[in-house]
Amino acid sequence: MKDMIAYEQEIIPELLKTSVERAEQLISLQQHYGTHFARTHFNIDPTSGLKSLEHLEQALENKKDSFKVETVAFPQHGIYYTETLPLMKEAAKLKSVSFIGGLDPLSIDGNIEKVMGFTVQLALDHHKGLIDIHLHEVGESGMKTINYLIDKAIENPQLQGKTFVSHAFALAHLNPKETEQIAERLAAAKVGIASSVPFGKTIMPIPTLKKYGVNVLIGNDNVQDYWSTFGSGSMLQKANLIAELYGYATEYALSRALQFATQSILPLDEKGKQQWPKAGDEAAIVLTEASCSAEAVSRISKIEALMHDGNLFWRS
Ligand SMILES: [Zn+2]
Repeated sequence: MKDMIAYEQEIIPELLKTSVERAEQLISLQQHYGTHFARTHFNIDPTSGLKSLEHLEQALENKKDSFKVETVAFPQHGIYYTETLPLMKEAAKLKSVSFIGGLDPLSIDGNIEKVMGFTVQLALDHHKGLIDIHLHEVGESGMKTINYLIDKAIENPQLQGKTFVSHAFALAHLNPKETEQIAERLAAAKVGIASSVPFGKTIMPIPTLKKYGVNVLIGNDNVQDYWSTFGSGSMLQKANLIAELYGYATEYALSRALQFATQSILPLDEKGKQQWPKAGDEAAIVLTEASCSAEAVSRISKIEALMHDGNLFWRS
């Protein structure tokens, strides 16, 4: 991570020159796959200053009729490792910033309590109450950070439902009993997990988290950037990956897997009764070439059109 930080310090000035344009292209790509809402992280570090956010806001302004976001002020170069703390304080005051972000507190900044304490306090002070920590650390330090956030959410109910750990790879290395215990605690504190659904050496216990009622959000950490080129930008592809990885193979199980692409919205309930859309629901619809939810997931059906706020946009 630290050599990537050094690399970013070199390339960010160059990247900023084209970031508005590239952000718009990324939004277009996501829209092609049926996405109309995203949680997006912008770099906040001494090299970017607030420029990354300004450029993101410009791109969003150009797309405002068809795309909405919640933003995460993301200290990619640490809070203390580089001098980012004053910038985070500045960003926290901005209306356009929804979440206070964070990154591996021990391996980047060398201190879990100091970094997490600052992050939680900043979120509380600005009534954001919204925290998104990208935690790749495994083992004791990873679990310590997760448990710290759970404790803070229990202490401060305003953080519940608004605190997320992204990646949380530490959860992939627990035994079944430990997994159930932490799932129960996450659910009780309403601390959510955001995952890009890794596979290979790290398999996240998504079914157990869901079983205990943990809010599990699915996303892409990277879509075609210098960190990785393997994010497709398609949420349906992620639902398909989940179905294959965790063995959701029957028509019924495939139909339930659609929820990972739709923020838990499913057209039919478990008994097959229509539950969406209903009068009064948000006018956000994805039209796809599929006979049923299961087909959409298993075939990663082509998206034909996207409705955002009642406006229909056809895929060109
Ligand atoms: Zn990440």
